[in-house]
Amino acid sequence: MKPETLAIHAGNLYKISTKDVTPPINLSTTFLRDEDGGYSGGHMYSRVSNPNRSALEKALADLEKGADACAFSSGNTAGMSLFQALKPGSHIIAPDDMYWGFKKQLQTIFKDTLEIDFIDQTDIAVIKSSIKENTVLIWVETPSNPLLKITDVTAIAKIAKENNLILACDSTFASPCLQNPISLGADIVMHSSTKYIGGHSDVLGGALITATKNELWEKIRNVQQIGGAVPSPFDCYLLLRSIKTLPYRMRAHSANGLALALYLQKHDQVEAVFYPGLREHPQHEIAKTQMSDFGGMLSILVKGGAAEARRIVNAVKLFAQATSLGGVESLIEHRASIEGPDTKTPQNLIRISAGLEHIDDLIDDLKQALA
Ligand SMILES: *Cc1c(COP(=O)(O)O)cnc(C)c1O
Repeated sequence: MKPETLAIHAGNLYKISTKDVTPPINLSTTFLRDEDGGYSGGHMYSRVSNPNRSALEKALADLEKGADACAFSSGNTAGMSLFQALKPGSHIIAPDDMYWGFKKQLQTIFKDTLEIDFIDQTDIAVIKSSIKENTVLIWVETPSNPLLKITDVTAIAKIAKENNLILACDSTFASPCLQNPISLGADIVMHSSTKYIGGHSDVLGGALITATKNELWEKIRNVQQIGGAVPSPFDCYLLLRSIKTLPYRMRAHSANGLALALYLQKHDQVEAVFYPGLREHPQHEIAKTQMSDFGGMLSILVKGGAAEARRIVNAVKLFAQATSLGGVESLIEHRASIEGPDTKTPQNLIRISAGLEHIDDLIDDLKQALA
């Protein structure tokens, strides 16, 4: 072969047999066909599937006790893919405290094609009375963002079954290690893997996991493969790498989350603490039945309104003032100013993502910032 040909073809090991303990990152966008035109390697084109994404999807499905998973390029696309799989004119029952990005998505992208009611899902009677002729989906988010409301997935799953509705659960705040909505009767679980699953604030991703491979799931898989909002092989590699430490990280996030909640609850400057692990949380008993621990997310209301809340998030030294959550580093944010002028989030609300630093250092930092 001439140098030009060699430069392109030398070292291309199409049949890797190095028996890696850690799977390699398969960057190839396309895969060799067999003589008969088939794909005995199992992959054809990387948007449709690739080894890293298949490995991630298998891990996510197994962790959530589901039948299959679809990985997406962000949490928002994961949710959007389910909304896109619904017939136009369908009615969705969504939570009033829905993650603001989804609320925005439904109110803008889907405003002419889907009908949505945002209701208080901690009240089962309100859910029942919201069901209409064209209702197809109940979307719950538990714990919710940013008020840490808990919805009773088992009770809502019963209503969904009785009325032949799909139940989907945004389980991002819990991660697959603290609750498994499919085991509680949900049909679909959604995660922003940007958060706890990724865990290091360095990769965007999202996922849907299904209880059964049914007609709806086929549509979702189509939206993923033909729509093409898929994560890169490197993103999938990072997420799978992160998943290896997820159970241990969630224990430490939960321990720090509870310790911060208990500390803040006793602080003079704090009006309220929202954390499902507190006995005083209005849905603590439900949280105890459906979660194995309560995670690292909490919100507080501080005395002195928006001005004081903004002073505090600027006064911290160890916490990073930034949005997002679930990373090893602790984050703090004035939530209302992130969500914009039409938000219903209280102006004196501060949202905290407890990271994995030592709890004494975290408490010391909040103590000096609140003083
Ligand atoms: C961040 C988040 C999302 C959206 O995920 P992205 O990865 O940012 O697109 C959805 N739901 C919840 C609860 C979130 O925290």
